[in-house]
Amino acid sequence: MNGAPTLGRDESRPYTTGPMGELREAAYWSVEGERVRCALCPHHCLIAEGKQGLCGVRGNRGGRLRALTYGVVTAANLDPIEKKPLYHFHPGSAILSLGSWGCNLSCDFCQNWHISTGEVPGSHLSPQEAADLAVREERRGNIGISYTYNEPLIWFEYVLDTSRLVRERGLKNVLVTNGEIEEGPLEELLPYIDAMNVDIKAMADDFYRRLCHGPGSVPRRTVERALGRCHVEVTNLLIPGENDSAEQVGALVDWVAGLSDRIPVHFSRYHPAHKMTKPPTPLASLEQAYRIASEKLKYVYVGNARLPNASDTRCPSCGAVVVERDGFSASPPRLSDGRCGECGSEVDLVT
Ligand code: SF4
Repeated sequence: MNGAPTLGRDESRPYTTGPMGELREAAYWSVEGERVRCALCPHHCLIAEGKQGLCGVRGNRGGRLRALTYGVVTAANLDPIEKKPLYHFHPGSAILSLGSWGCNLSCDFCQNWHISTGEVPGSHLSPQEAADLAVREERRGNIGISYTYNEPLIWFEYVLDTSRLVRERGLKNVLVTNGEIEEGPLEELLPYIDAMNVDIKAMADDFYRRLCHGPGSVPRRTVERALGRCHVEVTNLLIPGENDSAEQVGALVDWVAGLSDRIPVHFSRYHPAHKMTKPPTPLASLEQAYRIASEKLKYVYVGNARLPNASDTRCPSCGAVVVERDGFSASPPRLSDGRCGECGSEVDLVT
């Protein structure tokens, strides 16, 4: 796919860093005639002078690819880690959550569209300042930085530089991502990432093509590459009539179970947003997904909806509640020597 404006982004409102940005040269690109080719994500945009790629935040400036949002932060909050969602990585802790602009997918149902389409103002925060802020927030229980809100992989250079500094300070790095990245840059980033939640939007390539305007196989490859290298959880937003059938949920569950039945999976309730006006996901669909997944996976959760017992972490051996959740708050894990406090079995919590 090239840099043609197939996503319908308004070219009269390109993302620019203005005086606060550092117009840092991007990684992973090459020159093709008078254009540059970005090789960060599977779109491989071919970008003319003065234009941006599909994500809107990597642009050809003077014949070189620039990371236009390097150091541009649109949101910085100390969030519960459960909000990412990560339920098996330091449950009950807080994490400094940073986001910028743009996305390399263009989902009709985007739940963060005002950020991904650049509708919110940004300010400058250098990697050094971000890492220092993360350290200062330790007094409020912060464990590190989560790169989230918009798609962090298109913020590659900033995430890489910041995560190195965060790691040096003994804190954690978390990615909340759609997983759309080429293997080279993923390999460069993975050594600094402690945990990630990858949004697998559907198993059907057609779903990705039609509703997200991107490839569907790459996010699964990202999960497969990250497994064993960092803590991984998977989220699947269930959209009525699009990906919530027993067949589609079953395909996702089979894929996850084939990797490991100990990967936590979060089914999330869709609400109408951006271009999609369908009503919210029926609770019956969420219950069905929870039931299907629980037959093959040890840790299944439902988010954005209150279903009984669907947010607590249970010991897969004896069924005892190990972490009890209410909204985004979590009880301290009931563990003994890192294992289930009731029966002593392994519970797969990073604490
Ligand atoms: S990161 Fe952006 S510019 Fe690069 S290939 Fe992907 S969408 Fe295109």
